[in-house]
Amino acid sequence: MKALRYVEVGKAPVVVDIPIPTPGPGQVLVKVTAAGVCHSDDYVMGLPEKDYLEQQYPLPLTLGHEGVGVVHELGEGAATALKVGDAVAVYGPWGCGYCHNCSQGRENYCTNAVELGIRPPGLGSQGSMAEYMLVDDPRHLVPLGDLDPVQNVALTDAGLTPYHAIKQSLPKLGAGTYAVVIGTGGLGHVGIQILKAVSGATVIALDVNEEKLALAKEVGADITIISDSDAAAKIMDATHGLGANAVFDFVGAKPTIPLALSVAAIEADVTIVGIGGGTAEFGFGSINYDAAVRIPYWGYRNELIEVLDLARAGKVGVEIQRYSLDESPKAYADLKEGTIRGRAVIVP
Ligand code: NAD
Ligand code: ZN
Ligand code: ZN
Repeated sequence: MKALRYVEVGKAPVVVDIPIPTPGPGQVLVKVTAAGVCHSDDYVMGLPEKDYLEQQYPLPLTLGHEGVGVVHELGEGAATALKVGDAVAVYGPWGCGYCHNCSQGRENYCTNAVELGIRPPGLGSQGSMAEYMLVDDPRHLVPLGDLDPVQNVALTDAGLTPYHAIKQSLPKLGAGTYAVVIGTGGLGHVGIQILKAVSGATVIALDVNEEKLALAKEVGADITIISDSDAAAKIMDATHGLGANAVFDFVGAKPTIPLALSVAAIEADVTIVGIGGGTAEFGFGSINYDAAVRIPYWGYRNELIEVLDLARAGKVGVEIQRYSLDESPKAYADLKEGTIRGRAVIVP
């Protein structure tokens, strides 16, 4: 089968031909119908060799932590309600299934995964950018039903991650409130729609790129602002001097984290989702009174089912750019260039 693999640290990923894997006991072989391209893949491929190996990423690594497909074969003893032929979405943040967090579907916060060497597909285990992928347990598949695979694959991360971030802050986002979304790329453009669907907040969207802001407007942002040194003042203006009740930073870079903190209202939530290398210094006066800062990772298993339900209800949709597996290295080049509108999706 064809697979897009990161083979050598520092080099672009390549399409290679490898054997179709065989599902071992308890595993599921999924025939991939679509795989999404996330900026985090670019982060991993940007790691210097020492950090890449220290963090125990394998080489070669089949990329892709957003995946949907059809159940192709069940390994021995994979006792499950799943049947061959079922359309499924892969829940990527694999955990042990046994610890307290996993028992609640919070496998993204598994307390045993590191010790047991359990790694997400495409981010340590072999990923979805191939014709077939192995899923370690039927628990890591949720029903896709009749949702279009190519249109919806990105919801497994670009949907789930903002959904989780937003859901935790919902008590602060009733009518008359303001939410700021920084970065309106893959995650951000879905985040805007989730905010409009589940909260009462007026949504203020920021990006450095006018075209991304045009997309933000199209998908429902109420106010769009170029992310430059005037942005904080414009946000304070738009919020009548009070700041935003929740700020979601889908960039997490040097300029955006201080910006996010500076526009937080009293008792706001500031959620840093992006892993753009930014940091912040804290002390009295560095953020509004009783504001809280959160740094979440991905989302819960039940939340993936919920975000797919939002799509089924027509409330959330992903803007996509389609690539074949042969064209997939170009998807990463385009991501680097910043030319992707919404999410790049690989269709094997
Ligand atoms: P993307 O490239 O699709 O989108 C990023 C957007 O940010 C682009 O539209 C870009 O123009 C914009 N941007 C860049 N600099 C900016 C600035 N200074 N101000 C405002 N906007 C700016 O990336 P993505 O796939 O949506 O991922 C977003 C970030 O979230 C990445 O850092 C990724 O690694 C991270 N991520 C984190 C998690 C998590 O669980 N915490 C999950 C998925 C992705
Ligand atoms: Zn991701
Ligand atoms: Zn666990």
